[in-house]
Amino acid sequence: MFGFHKILTVWYQQNKRDLPWRVNQDPYYVWVSEVILQQTRVDQGKEYFLRFIKRFPTINSLATAPENDILLIWQGLGYYSRARNMHYAARQIMNEFNGIFPDHYSDILKLKGVGEYTAAAIGSISFGLQHAVIDGNVYRVLSRIFGIATPIDTTIGKREFSDLAHELLDPNNPAIFNEAMMEFGALQCIPRNPDCNICPFRFRCVAFANNNISKLPVKSKKTSVRHRFFHFLYLKSGEQFFLEKREENDIWQNLYQLPLIESDKPLTIEELLSGQQFCSLMRGRTIEVEKVSAEIVHVLSHQKLHVRFIELKAEHLEAKVQWILVHPAEVPEYPVPKLIDNFLLEKMGTI
Ligand code: SF4
Repeated sequence: MFGFHKILTVWYQQNKRDLPWRVNQDPYYVWVSEVILQQTRVDQGKEYFLRFIKRFPTINSLATAPENDILLIWQGLGYYSRARNMHYAARQIMNEFNGIFPDHYSDILKLKGVGEYTAAAIGSISFGLQHAVIDGNVYRVLSRIFGIATPIDTTIGKREFSDLAHELLDPNNPAIFNEAMMEFGALQCIPRNPDCNICPFRFRCVAFANNNISKLPVKSKKTSVRHRFFHFLYLKSGEQFFLEKREENDIWQNLYQLPLIESDKPLTIEELLSGQQFCSLMRGRTIEVEKVSAEIVHVLSHQKLHVRFIELKAEHLEAKVQWILVHPAEVPEYPVPKLIDNFLLEKMGTI
């Protein structure tokens, strides 16, 4: 279609970045990089990728590693379920595919946590399969160049964009085409204020001609955000303090945190201390509140966490079954969410 893939490929050859996962087409590298890049910018993603590959250089080393080690390497990236899924999928490859990364699209899709986007990226880059990647970048680029206003979060929209992407895909080089699409969306046709004057598609781009770049792509629904109120208790016992493991099927599953009281509405400190959860944790002990932090708002994809840290001194505190007494020097052994890590780092500077 009007030499689309030629224009795109020339742009890519002139603008592509040197990235560590592009040194070869190893499917393991492509997989790890794609999962990391789903949740962070390339700059930060590079460091995580290099650390991950250094610690787990092969699928087997990932499959046989303890989950804690994987979560520790992942710490700060968020979406910890993705790291757990990779661990599970590495075991699938060892057990169901004799340790060899599957090279059929339908088999790649069988790996836990691998969806159509990642399967298309791995399949095209590592095995030359003719599957177009479709992600936020691709929706943006195609909706603008072709002036498509069909909402991207509807079945009909998904089908329309997928059909178009496959029609445009270069059958002789799906790998370069897909990498070029992703790079073009990340560097040139960016979400806000793209520099259209230097864009090779400017004379073809419908959105540029109609001056409606900021209106595309279109989404039909607004995602609803759940507000949660987290009150973390920093309970010291001598030089040590308590951590607990998050075991429910929820954010940060299997990571460690300070003992938590969660509510679905904001609580004053008096409401928190007189509440049933707090009283049952403390069972009538004398408690002194040493410090209450300002609220920190932590935004996840569909959740907004309103977080406060409450520093408490309690007499003769006994550990609950789920609590672990930890010395500050032992903290690096525990995978913890980034905001707990930041709090503890600040504390350790003052201990
Ligand atoms: S002209 Fe602008 S809106 Fe159109 S593809 Fe290029 S960068 Fe994107």
